[in-house]
Amino acid sequence: MSNKVILELNDVTKNYKKTNIIRKMNLQVKEGEFLVMLGPSGCGKSTTLRMIAGLEAPSTGEILIDGRNSEKISSFERNIAMVFQDYALYPNMTVYQNLEYSLKVHKVKKEERQKRLEAILETLNLTAYRDRLPGQLSGGQKQRVALGRGMVKQSKIFLLDEPLSNIDVQLREKARDEIQALHEKNHQTIVYVTHDQLEAMALGDRIAIINDGIIQMIDTPDNIYNHPTNLFVAQFIGTPKINTLEVTYDQGKLLFNEEVVLSNTERLRKLALASNRLCLGIRPEHVIVKKERTDLLDLPAQVETVVDYGRYQQLTLNIKGNQSIKAIITNSVFVSGDKVYFSFVAEKILLFDYENKKNLEN
Ligand code: ADP
Ligand code: MG
Repeated sequence: MSNKVILELNDVTKNYKKTNIIRKMNLQVKEGEFLVMLGPSGCGKSTTLRMIAGLEAPSTGEILIDGRNSEKISSFERNIAMVFQDYALYPNMTVYQNLEYSLKVHKVKKEERQKRLEAILETLNLTAYRDRLPGQLSGGQKQRVALGRGMVKQSKIFLLDEPLSNIDVQLREKARDEIQALHEKNHQTIVYVTHDQLEAMALGDRIAIINDGIIQMIDTPDNIYNHPTNLFVAQFIGTPKINTLEVTYDQGKLLFNEEVVLSNTERLRKLALASNRLCLGIRPEHVIVKKERTDLLDLPAQVETVVDYGRYQQLTLNIKGNQSIKAIITNSVFVSGDKVYFSFVAEKILLFDYENKKNLEN
């Protein structure tokens, strides 16, 4: 990835009639970067991608591609490929013709066209379907054709809108690896939209988390997971979801239902808390579960359910105040009904403002 900014959104908004879909989007993508946009359905991901592709204009604000206002770049010189969420295949062209079309338009030589197309057909398991029309394909097959059509163009900027959502799990992993390999080989700038957090974490150099038409956080997968900027981001990433508890701060101690869960740390001293009410976040894999009480911070719980995933076990613990939390552990010896003790990995505890839900340490 170079340091050059290739794509820039400055205060972009988008309204449909009177509804404000994109509230204010600011974004800089570097040349060769793999940026993932992740957010719930309806948050404005496709709309943003369509604006970047030049298919729709922003209501206000501007989009710069290589420093030029995108509305002033003709579609021919635009050098952007897009894989559409709804495939947008030409219904009267075969799979092969669909894949070949844009290469013909851009006057790529016949030999080169054939070489690229054979490789793509092979990669996406489409060789057997090359002469079929889109109407004769399953949803997953159509999606693979749409993906292939974007890939063969080898454009400078590659936009993908949920390109793997309808592909079977096994083939999806292969297609994901293929997209990654393609990126490592060609260093295209990629903006990739998904609502699948695992896909986002696996692919993105950075992830932009979008909600309500606003970027909530844009950062590396590591920072998004471990230092989320607010409770929305913390809860949106990670399965099972991060546990949240209402806690109070009193004289160097964090209390949950009058029991201490963290005490006298440098962190708590630094925070200089304005309010004594906080929201504590702890990921299930950072909950420690044991049979005996061995530490002052161990609190009693009862095992409600155990789900064994083979590689790890997921416990639901009933804790004081009739609340429950989830714990992920390996080699669990616990069964439902067991009386146990739990505590938190202290340095993994996240603290959020009770009112505005912002991470107090970001
Ligand atoms: P996402 O891709 O994140 O699921 P979209 O960008 O497709 O979300 O849509 C965001 C919101 O904008 C949705 O509420 C959708 O109904 C609305 N929307 C999208 N396109 C149009 C349009 N052409 N006219 C009116 N509303 C639209
Ligand atoms: Mg969409």
